[in-house]
Amino acid sequence: MTEKTHHCPICHKVFTHRCAKKGHANPCPVHTSSYVRPGNECVSCHEAEVREANKASKSKK
Ligand SMILES: [Zn+2]
Ligand SMILES: [Zn+2]
Repeated sequence: MTEKTHHCPICHKVFTHRCAKKGHANPCPVHTSSYVRPGNECVSCHEAEVREANKASKSKK
């Protein structure tokens, strides 16, 4: 999943509150416009994490 679509990762339809109710995906607590499957992290969070990791490895060297 590289594209920022608002489609449900479970039923592959446009994400609705019905999907959230069914537990298909939850809004990220940080990026409330991003929905993420339970147990996964949202794309924005992941990108931020990668950025931090890159920064850390750079400053370490
Ligand atoms: Zn769904
Ligand atoms: Zn996030």
